[in-house]
Amino acid sequence: MTAFPHLFAALDVGPVRLKNRILSTGHMTQMVADGKPTDDLVAYHEARARGGAGLIIVESAIVHPTAGDRSHLVLYDDGCIPGYRRIAKACHAFGTKLFAQLGHSGRIMRDSRDGTLAVAYAPASLADERFHVVPRALPAGLIAEIVAAYGAAAKRMRAAGFDGVEIMASHGLLPAQFLNPRTNPRTDAYGGSPENRRRFLAKVIAAVNAQAGESMAVGVRISGDEMEAGGLTPDEVLEALGALAPGLDYVNVTAGSMAGLAGSVHVVPPMAVPVGYVAPIAGRIRVAIDKPVFVAGRINQPQIAERILAEGQADACGMTRAMICDPEMANKAATGRSDDIRACIGCNQACIGHMQAGYPISCIQHPESGRERRFAARRPAPEARRVLVAGGGPGGMKAAAVAAERGHRVTLYEAGPRLGGQVLLAQILPSRSEFGGIVTNLAAEMARAGVIVVTRTAVTWALVEAETPDAVIVATGAGPAPAACEIAEGTHVVDAWQVLEGANVGRSVVIADWRADWIGLGLAERLARDGCHVRLAVNGTMAGETVQQYVRDHWVGVLHRLGVEVIPYARLYGADGDTVYLQHTTSGEAMVIEGVDTLVTALGHRPDTALEDALAGWPGAVHLAGDCLAPRTAEEAVLEGLVAGTAV
Ligand code: SF4
Repeated sequence: MTAFPHLFAALDVGPVRLKNRILSTGHMTQMVADGKPTDDLVAYHEARARGGAGLIIVESAIVHPTAGDRSHLVLYDDGCIPGYRRIAKACHAFGTKLFAQLGHSGRIMRDSRDGTLAVAYAPASLADERFHVVPRALPAGLIAEIVAAYGAAAKRMRAAGFDGVEIMASHGLLPAQFLNPRTNPRTDAYGGSPENRRRFLAKVIAAVNAQAGESMAVGVRISGDEMEAGGLTPDEVLEALGALAPGLDYVNVTAGSMAGLAGSVHVVPPMAVPVGYVAPIAGRIRVAIDKPVFVAGRINQPQIAERILAEGQADACGMTRAMICDPEMANKAATGRSDDIRACIGCNQACIGHMQAGYPISCIQHPESGRERRFAARRPAPEARRVLVAGGGPGGMKAAAVAAERGHRVTLYEAGPRLGGQVLLAQILPSRSEFGGIVTNLAAEMARAGVIVVTRTAVTWALVEAETPDAVIVATGAGPAPAACEIAEGTHVVDAWQVLEGANVGRSVVIADWRADWIGLGLAERLARDGCHVRLAVNGTMAGETVQQYVRDHWVGVLHRLGVEVIPYARLYGADGDTVYLQHTTSGEAMVIEGVDTLVTALGHRPDTALEDALAGWPGAVHLAGDCLAPRTAEEAVLEGLVAGTAV
């Protein structure tokens, strides 16, 4: 008897039966070459199918050249068919169904082949607030061509052996632009009344149904609430779906819009957004239409999905990042191994963050994701060796777990009383408590693999000599970097750790934020919530410059509401008593802030190389991982831990 009876019940979606109600929703992977799926993309989806997903919806692919360039999957020529066929074959082997997403971005498009912007097309020549694109109004003839292209794309997916197609009407994309009276002021047959504004999507649904045939499911993905100024409202979406649902086999509900910075936060909602928060929106739609409703949005654990299904808010749950973070999530839930699931923490760093930076998708906790062909399965060690890992941060923990899984006898030493390293700081900042999940997950992986953990013990040359391991993995991390400028005696200065340990900072605080990341954002929120007047002086162009956009945009909004004053382009120049001196990083001019009770420094890190230096003459194998190699983030530490644990 499964603990998740609703989640593992079969579901009929039109003519297609899903073996369970866990789906990977369409998400961009950057595993595309000249518009076609790569071998990496096949391996990526195959891993989620092997892990038990009931349905995989492959990422949005463009149906017409006006929708973008060939950095996206392209469905407007037959060249896509072999690659899609390989994905279908690989996933069908595990009983997983495959749907393809049919997309057209409309005005949400900044594609370029040579550095110049392509022309974007939309219902009207109305700009968005995010991409700053002024589109060209679609002429009726081009509308008809695009509608036909949706149908042709569905036909190609049928030829590729896919089980269904999903029309992307979500996130402010072209069909949503037609539905929305604020973006569609047309006075022809495609605008002016709700019925006319639905006409484009109704014709697309009809064209797709005509080509999909009897055996494929046809659905629509839509934002139940675009959560953006001028975006589609829940009532408008309900009205449209009420009329369009008879032509559909299912509706896949999400939230947000790519047209603005507030709405785009919900395209991939970050850690600060509550889990399962879209479910009530989906539930309202489910009551109104007589078709299966899918929902996504921070459903990161099977317990949450089960609750949503049991309460009748949806018929299936998108658990996309849950399966980026743990491709085996579904199988683990099905076989009573829920405690072994590596839960996604919503950091957005390596999944959507990689995609936006132009790199293949991965996960900070599970760097094997997106690298399936390199790290497909643990390669057993040719002989069991004794491995000593120095440092219990994410890099050391991952290295220890991987080495032990391969059959080595591994002991991890941590100098402090607790495992976690820098994560211990991250998890006590506001809205970052889930970050501690990395430590919980890695500690569990180490325990299952049989790693011996020794805390309060720093590794020295003498300890290595006494233990005589075959290999040492050095993951000793980094400590806070001191200020490199003049701080007069008597100035009250504390670092980030001291603030979080409860240092008294008074009422007026300047945070000198060199890294422009989550530390500065989190300290500013924490101190503002404690009642301080906070000035966040960022050595960068904006607060949170180095964190993923949706994480940053959400957090900057929180800080604005709390009255935090952000000072960009600000280098810490010195401090004297109650005065902090900043220097503008481009003009070189002074910025003087008086009446400051405490200067809080977040000036980056210095690598701890003491053990590496001490082991210079040691004859055994030494591997380095994480911040002791060079201070960066948890992502690099975990990846380097994986590499080191694979190499020993
Ligand atoms: Fe989740 Fe972060 Fe991994 Fe993305 S990178 S899947 S948000 S844990």
